[in-house]
Amino acid sequence: LRPERNQIEHIARQAASGQRRRRNVVRAGIGDDCAVLRAPAGHDLLVTTDFTLEGVHFRREWYPATVVGHRCLTRGLSDIAAMGGDPLAAFLSLALPPGLEQAWVDGFFRGLLRLARRFDVPLAGGDLAQSELRQAPGSPGRVLADIVVVGAVPSGQAVLRSGARPGDTIYVTGALGGAAAAVAELLRGGRDRKAAGSYQPIPRLEIGRALRRRRLASAMIDLSDGLSIDLDRVCESSGVGAEVDAAAIPCARLRGRMVELEMALHGGEDYELLFTAPASSRVPARIAGVPIRAIGRITGGRKLFLVRKGRKSLLRPQGWEYFR
Ligand SMILES: [Mg+2]
Repeated sequence: LRPERNQIEHIARQAASGQRRRRNVVRAGIGDDCAVLRAPAGHDLLVTTDFTLEGVHFRREWYPATVVGHRCLTRGLSDIAAMGGDPLAAFLSLALPPGLEQAWVDGFFRGLLRLARRFDVPLAGGDLAQSELRQAPGSPGRVLADIVVVGAVPSGQAVLRSGARPGDTIYVTGALGGAAAAVAELLRGGRDRKAAGSYQPIPRLEIGRALRRRRLASAMIDLSDGLSIDLDRVCESSGVGAEVDAAAIPCARLRGRMVELEMALHGGEDYELLFTAPASSRVPARIAGVPIRAIGRITGGRKLFLVRKGRKSLLRPQGWEYFR
């Protein structure tokens, strides 16, 4: 690994290249005690922070470093999308084990900054540390990353989890279960490990923004932990229940095969959006080229049900604990 000072200069150089918005938003970035951001007039600020921990969220031997970097930033951007907001700047705190190769760090930043450029989000600061004082014999040590994303939304217009009302229709973007199916493939140790490890979800920023602008969504969340658990979070915040139609759930495809319903229901890390809208509102079938599917409706009470072949059963919120 490069010495810290060197490393930071190296990262700052990479981060500065190809950022269009830098001067409008970031008055001072990497290299001072704080970043100085210009807060857009008439907007509320959004702040989100998310861990990416080796052994919990990824394994270094399974995922290329670029994919780990990409997914690290996706977690933050997806939260901003779920509020209907615009990302302004990202901050990264990164703890690296002493024995790590510089090539891994370079790959991580390549993946992260490629996604940052795609959405024009400057990396405006962070912190670097060693995750262990010395390398334990026989242990590769662990990479720990915490991404912070600051965003903005017109004042009072952030789409919260608490706005769902009985009778609202429940929608999801894209397809679900692909990330969980890829992890299952990795755990099985099948031949397609390389393809499974390269899965890079795209945060649905355009869709979140479009729904907020057109005032279509009454409540919204991003699907980071799984449909059942994230829908339950919306229901809990809104004080409502839900009925989900199993046949309407858009299951992802992995190498041409549809993933199992269980993966679409409980698998995490899809980073699609789930939102609710009054039954009377006209929700388009696609936004920004991504299909939008109605999968059920909000009910009174506080329970979640799954309707499958005409039979109704309780839907228990469960996350997918990948590496257990
Ligand atoms: Mg979220």
